[in-house]
Amino acid sequence: MLKFWFAIPLWQRVLGALVLGILAGLFWGPEAENIKWIGDLFIRAIKMLVVPLIFFSLVSGIAALGDLKKLGDVGGKAIALFVATGLISVSIGLTMGTIFEPGVGLDISMPEGVAIPEPATTSVTQMILSLIPENPVMTMAEGQILPLIIFAMLFGISLLMAGPDAAPIVRAADAGAAVMQKMTMLVMELTPFGVFALMAWVAGTFGFDALLPLAQMVLLNYAGCFILILALYPIILKTIARLNLADFYRGIIDAQAVAFSTASSNAALPVTLRCIQRNLGVSKSVSSFTVSLGATINMDGTAMYLGLVALFGAQLYGIELTWMSYVLIALTATLGSVGAAGIPGSGLIMMSLVLTAIGVPLETIAFVAGINHIMDMMRTMTNVTGDATVSVAVGRMVGEIDVEEYRSDEDI
Ligand code: ASP
Repeated sequence: MLKFWFAIPLWQRVLGALVLGILAGLFWGPEAENIKWIGDLFIRAIKMLVVPLIFFSLVSGIAALGDLKKLGDVGGKAIALFVATGLISVSIGLTMGTIFEPGVGLDISMPEGVAIPEPATTSVTQMILSLIPENPVMTMAEGQILPLIIFAMLFGISLLMAGPDAAPIVRAADAGAAVMQKMTMLVMELTPFGVFALMAWVAGTFGFDALLPLAQMVLLNYAGCFILILALYPIILKTIARLNLADFYRGIIDAQAVAFSTASSNAALPVTLRCIQRNLGVSKSVSSFTVSLGATINMDGTAMYLGLVALFGAQLYGIELTWMSYVLIALTATLGSVGAAGIPGSGLIMMSLVLTAIGVPLETIAFVAGINHIMDMMRTMTNVTGDATVSVAVGRMVGEIDVEEYRSDEDI
């Protein structure tokens, strides 16, 4: 029985749980609320991961830069492009969420005990001040993600500055990141049960009305990713790299296929690297640096999606957003895409960061968890395409791309 269960890929189990959960909910009606606690358990487990996962993967990601000089040159250019594309991606998600309003039409009252957010009363200076933790341990204990990210980044930079003296800590951070990725995979095993319970509750409580926003979400997620792949990246390739688009897409199609089918930037990493070095002619040092860093911190598809989900959640719960909320979404979604590990479902975990920042109930995650994998596949393909774009652009800027190689159809 167990063997049979684990023989089915997780995403298929989750999709099955989604369908069965909806059917069970429609059949049971409001009674389905009795199993909602299983979904709550799943959400608690996700929340449990966030603090250590962000800390370890950010610190080990920054330490992977190697030294400060590299951080200054190639790193500076790559990170500038990562951040710029991340912010543009969130804006695309926010624009689509505003135009198409996927969460409108489903009336959900605020769960008990959830405070109405008051972003409007937070001044810009207050927000800037709150970014710097007075006490990093307290920040972690209280689960304040933004100051935690700032602390982790400073910690990583200081590790680089300390050089060989800090080697044991770098190794510890790498080990911690590996352990947290494993723990994430364990928690992901709960997904089918959590999704079943939450979908049954959603369908039982809200009936067919609940299903429409989900279909819209999948469509919007795909449309947003297509905008990035067919508009944003071509603009970068044409203006910064000044290179042919057809050669680019022919060169990275293998990486895209692996990313789409595994829903993991990390799993696709070896293929992505090979495509960029061999098919697109980017030098070994620039490509390994930009792509391995990019697989961890550059996730445009995820950033776009987090922006979209934030609006979806706010619309679902009828929460008014101020301009400050939009700034917070842009910041947290970009940082969340930086903090997300390149593994299946990590975007789902980062959702809690964005939703908490603007005071949208975390139950929003329940609405999208069941359809997450279908969207994750497309997001991951976009993330990997974004990494390749930045790698080619940086390679071109620092003169480390073999243009003949890029143009040739030959795969060596
Ligand atoms: N699975 C995605 C990746 O590996 C991240 C996400 O969940 O959005 O790139």
